[in-house]
Amino acid sequence: MKIAVIGTGYVGLVSGACFSEFGFFVTCVDKDPAKIKMINAGTMPIYEPGLEELVARNAAAGRLHFTTDLGPAVAAADAVFIAVGTPTRRGDGYADLSFVYDVASEIAPFLNDYTVIVTKSTVPVGTGREVGSIIAATNATANFDIVSNPEFLREGAAIADFMRPDRVVVGVQSEAARDVMRALYRPLFLIETPILFTNLETSELIKYASNAFLAVKISYINQMADLCEKVGADVHDVAKGMGLDKRIGNKFLHPGPGYGGSCFPKDTLALAKTAEQHGTDVSIVGAVVTYNAHRKMAMADRVISAMGGVVKDTEIAVLGLAFKPETDDMRDSPSIDIVTVLSAAGAHVRVYDPKAMHEAKALLPATTQFCDTAASCLHGAAAAVVVTEWNEFRALTPTSFIEAMKGRVLLDLRNVYDPSAMQAAGLEYYSIGRETKL
Ligand code: NAD
Repeated sequence: MKIAVIGTGYVGLVSGACFSEFGFFVTCVDKDPAKIKMINAGTMPIYEPGLEELVARNAAAGRLHFTTDLGPAVAAADAVFIAVGTPTRRGDGYADLSFVYDVASEIAPFLNDYTVIVTKSTVPVGTGREVGSIIAATNATANFDIVSNPEFLREGAAIADFMRPDRVVVGVQSEAARDVMRALYRPLFLIETPILFTNLETSELIKYASNAFLAVKISYINQMADLCEKVGADVHDVAKGMGLDKRIGNKFLHPGPGYGGSCFPKDTLALAKTAEQHGTDVSIVGAVVTYNAHRKMAMADRVISAMGGVVKDTEIAVLGLAFKPETDDMRDSPSIDIVTVLSAAGAHVRVYDPKAMHEAKALLPATTQFCDTAASCLHGAAAAVVVTEWNEFRALTPTSFIEAMKGRVLLDLRNVYDPSAMQAAGLEYYSIGRETKL
């Protein structure tokens, strides 16, 4: 079977490479010529562990191609996956579906034999049907079915997630489309991955319902962390005590500076808008959106409080910029709010991230100083703030902070370190939802 993947970003590139690893012939298409040129030269445009090797292996085997030329890839394909972005639309919180609809118009003229058009992008309920209408209006003779197949991979573990997912969700309208999707996911079926077939609307909603639920879970434990700080409880023990209950589960109960990334912020907003459009109440999700935005700003306020209320002309080191470790993705990362607020308050902010420096440059204030290593970032700083829990920061000892820094204030927004070890070494150590409070 031949597959065309339109959009070669985090999802399209990983999905395309993984489908080729399954043994299918895959052509990944992107409208960005620089991206395609880079990939064809063997360099990945994103940081994702294991991706470069996977792409190189399958490209060398002749199963994986990259191009800007959409027509031939679509004409030859049995299945066309749409994997373009669906960011928040400027001004109103709805998902911006213009990239998805553009792809629908672009692929339509090239559809000849029966083709399955699969929406892998995260799209609001009704989008799949609209994609179908656009294709039918553009090419009256096109023989196709629309499928919804949302992607659940996590950046940083994307390949493992694609190859061994908890489940595959497929929304279909016909038996023919179901057969094609079954064939495409046969390698996962063989390892007993649950494959859930639904109608289009259900599949589209499962993705939003899942992401919003995870965002609720994160915000819930963050609010519990705030309460723990007031009452002298330890949020990790609270999370453990909750998570041992199988109805709750122990995942996504780690407190932090608020969720970010390319999915939760935009997907919670889009779900709230879908509910609003249909006159139903998802106020839980609305509350989480508001709380999370507030929480990111509150993290900057914690730094300022730890510095006695004034950070003007103070050197502050920020370790970690990406929204989570093992990715270079900076979209909606809490680091953006934190660095922006501290800079606006007059602090001299210097930053270091193992992989996200390039992405961060366009998003952080012009005054931000970018450092090459954690050690140079900490050197001479009055305070340090750990925003992303990269392994290399976990390895830092109390001595590494004390010897490098001028001041003694350390804010650990990911609870990476042992409070007693940090305090015993003489650091003024603050973490989230534990015995140290602000
Ligand atoms: P991305 O921004 O990394 O990549 C999108 C790519 O599509 C870009 O390279 C862009 O140049 C390309 N593109 C846009 N219009 C095009 C067109 N007309 N023709 C060809 N290429 C085009 O996006 P992403 O992070 O991969 O996300 C894609 C979708 O998958 C989104 O809907 C997102 O919500 C969803 N998703 C993302 C993740 C994730 O972790 N990033 C996980 C699950 C689902």
